[in-house]
Parts: sequence; structure tokens; C-alpha cells
Amino acid sequence: MNKEDVAKFKERLEKLKAEILVLIQDEEDHSITREALDDIDQTSDMLAREMGSKMSSNHKNNLIKVEEALKRIKEKTYGKCMECGADIPVPRLQILPFAELCINCQNEHERYR
Ligand SMILES: [Zn+2]
Repeated sequence: MNKEDVAKFKERLEKLKAEILVLIQDEEDHSITREALDDIDQTSDMLAREMGSKMSSNHKNNLIKVEEALKRIKEKTYGKCMECGADIPVPRLQILPFAELCINCQNEHERYR
């Protein structure tokens, strides 16, 4: 991967990071309102809270992945598979800019999950 490609991915990742931060913020705002409204019905309140925390932990996982990808750009290991060290194909990174495994290693992981 050349410098220009890396710069492009860096830009995308930074944009993505900002978007995820907005989503997390959004959810935190919502969960406050939901708690205030759902005080009467405790069961649905608990359910809503659980669902809310699951959703934001998803975003937080993505945020961590994006931050790790940005760190790999800094360390110049971006675009390399963390498992086998092979180059991750650019089209794959275009779909998943924070991919850390090549397709082969990803498939292996999914098989044993
Ligand atoms: Zn690999």
C-alpha cells in the first residue's frame, strides 16, 4: 500500500471515529431520557437499559477498533494482517477500514467461534 492510500484510509478512519463518538453520545442522551420516562414500568426499563448498553458497547467496540487502526497507521503496520502478516487487500479495507485480519485468518476465526 502506498502513502496516498494510507492517507486516504487515515482520513476515513478519523471520520468514522467522529461518527461513532456522535452515536455513543446520542445513546447516552437517550438512555437518560428513557430512564426518566420508564420509571413506572420496571421490567421494560431494565430491558431498555440492557438493550441500550448492548448497543453502545457495540459502538464502543467499533471505536476501539478504529483507534487501533489509527495506531497501526502511526506504527506503519496498517493494512497488514495481525495474524499472519500478509497484506490485507485494499478492496477489503475499503469495505472495512479497521480490518485487522486478512480474509483467510478471518475465516479461520469465524469457524472456531
Ligand atoms: Zn492473515
